[in-house]
Amino acid sequence: MKIINKTNWNTNDLRKIIIKALNEDDRIEGKFTRRNKLEITIKHSKGYPSWVVDSYKRNGKELAPRQRYSGCAYLNGNRMRLCVPREAFIVSQFVRLFTHEMSHIRGIRSHRLIGDVDSKDLEWTRNYSVGLEKTNVKPKVDLQIKRYEHVLAALEIKKTQLKRLQNQIKKWTQKKNYYENILLANGKLKEDKKIDVWDKIYH
Ligand SMILES: [Zn+2]
Repeated sequence: MKIINKTNWNTNDLRKIIIKALNEDDRIEGKFTRRNKLEITIKHSKGYPSWVVDSYKRNGKELAPRQRYSGCAYLNGNRMRLCVPREAFIVSQFVRLFTHEMSHIRGIRSHRLIGDVDSKDLEWTRNYSVGLEKTNVKPKVDLQIKRYEHVLAALEIKKTQLKRLQNQIKKWTQKKNYYENILLANGKLKEDKKIDVWDKIYH
């Protein structure tokens, strides 16, 4: 049996219920022999048509969530599609739908013949529930914060570079002063030629 779950409902919870429902149905209808070939696709049913939503909005009325369980199956086939609501999950309704589609798969076409599932046969569904699938959605990174952090990092690098340059300038200025003192003392350099351009940076 293959379950293709396209909803936000937990796949394991759905599988447990489907297996139990099929066991119960087998008990009543006889063993379904193609169980391993069964392919069940579960989707979200559509919400209200947009004109209904708009009309409610216009009148300021609140719209109750649409509890729509619908499905289709191949007569005598192996595939069925079950549509379930997005907002809430009622296990008994889901099993009612699944059992109905199983009747088509078992070869019954007529809805009159299929009839409705006896509520007594659905009592077991009270012990079952379906949770939401845990999604590993990464928290959304604030783009402005990310860019600000990038600016901070860039600024830190520039500050380090400036400090390194300032140290180098200090060192070369000391050397300049050393040579100027010697050259002035031995007359090779005249006082007015003393260059102190770097000092401007420091004072
Ligand atoms: Zn039907």
